Amino acid sequence: RHFSSSAAFRIQERTLIAVKPDGVQRRLVGDIIKRFEQRGFKLVGMKMLQAPEGVLADHYHDLRQKSFYPALIRYMSSGPLVAMVWEGYNVVGTSRAMVGETNSAEAKPGTIRGDFSIHMSRNVIHASDSVEVAQKEISLWFCSSELVDWDSNFYQV
Ligand code: GDP
Ligand code: MG
Repeated sequence: RHFSSSAAFRIQERTLIAVKPDGVQRRLVGDIIKRFEQRGFKLVGMKMLQAPEGVLADHYHDLRQKSFYPALIRYMSSGPLVAMVWEGYNVVGTSRAMVGETNSAEAKPGTIRGDFSIHMSRNVIHASDSVEVAQKEISLWFCSSELVDWDSNFYQV
C-alpha cells in the first residue's frame, strides 16, 4: 500500500452514524449511505434495530435535563433506526459537516439535514460530535464482533 501507509494517515478514525426513525420511514437510508460511500468513507458496521430504552438513555445522557428530552426519546423510539460505523480520515469532523446544523432550519442546502429536513425535532440523522464521543457511542451501539475490519484495495486515506 502506498499513500495510505504513511504515518499521518495510518490511524483510522471511526464515527457512529444513525439514520433516525423518520429517515427510515421516509426511505432515506440509501441516499444517506450513498453520500458516505461517495465521499470515500468505509462502512465497517451496520444494523437495523428498534433502539432499546436503556441505550437511548445512555446515548442522550447529557441531554436528560432538557425540556425536549422526553419528546426526543419518543421520537428515537418511534420505529426502527439504522446504526452504522464509518471509518476514514477525519470522519468525525467531515461527517458533522456533511450532516449540517442540529437545527435543520439553519442547516445549509447540500448537507443531509439541509436537504432532507426542516425542523430539529425530525432531523433524520445522528453523527458523533467528537472522536472521544464516537468511541463511546460505537461501543454503546455495537459489540466488537459486529465491526468488520476489511482491507480496502481502493484509494483510501
Ligand atoms: P446533534 O449532535 O446535532 O444531533 O444535536 P444534539 O446532540 O445537541 O441533540 C441531539 C438531538 O436532540 C438532535 O439531533 C435533535 O434531534 C434533538 N434536539 C436537540 N435540540 C433540540 C431542541 O431544542 N428541540 C427539539 N425538539 N429537539 C432537539
Ligand atoms: Mg450530539
